[in-house]
Amino acid sequence: MTRDPHDTDARLLSFDRGGSMPVIVCPSCERGSDFQIVAHAPHGKYSSLLEVGIGNCLLCKQPVYMEWEQRREDHITKSWPPLRRRAPSELEEYPAVNRAFDEALVCFQAGSANGAMVMCRRAVAEAAIHFGAKRRDNIPTQLDHLVNERRILPEMREWADQTRIGGKVSAHGTGAKEWDDPEKEWCDEKDANAVIEFCAAFLEYLFVIPIRNRERRKATGVQIAEQSEQGSNEQSPSADA
Ligand SMILES: [Zn+2]
Repeated sequence: MTRDPHDTDARLLSFDRGGSMPVIVCPSCERGSDFQIVAHAPHGKYSSLLEVGIGNCLLCKQPVYMEWEQRREDHITKSWPPLRRRAPSELEEYPAVNRAFDEALVCFQAGSANGAMVMCRRAVAEAAIHFGAKRRDNIPTQLDHLVNERRILPEMREWADQTRIGGKVSAHGTGAKEWDDPEKEWCDEKDANAVIEFCAAFLEYLFVIPIRNRERRKATGVQIAEQSEQGSNEQSPSADA
């Protein structure tokens, strides 16, 4: 489930082998762009497998360091600056949730584990508020609301509760007793990585999968099923109020 934030493979678009001009998502301007390779050489450590090079983005003119497999410039294994992980595009339908979770990812990549934790907690709160929880309530009450409204299963409350603990440690330096580490006053990268994955799964269940289902049904002409007795979380999403 954990993902290397420096992994660029997922964002690779295509590559024109005809010239030294790979098309990748540029880490500087975040657009799919052609790169002019201005220098390249065998990788010092894995010279028979990898090449390293500098490419200039033709859109923003910024240089990017890249590593790719020999004779496979379409397989870029690393870049600097790295592409940052972004909130799933589906979350854009929910601006407040999206903003909080995306800021968590920005903080994480910038090395601010504690900033990431506070923003994960905000993302969960905004998700609950979207479904009618009160902003002034605390996270446990907001999560109770989601369970009572059958938006989440009671077990999933535990996933989101990780963001409550992480947010408390990061914002107040207290509460790590619940992680069996009463001395802890700051979250570290490992904590942040774990909490971000819980938060991502929670948001995926509440928002991302229902949108993908809606789009899939639209594409295949299959109607959205009636809400089940168990309380499906599937609902036509509306913009954040
Ligand atoms: Zn660029």
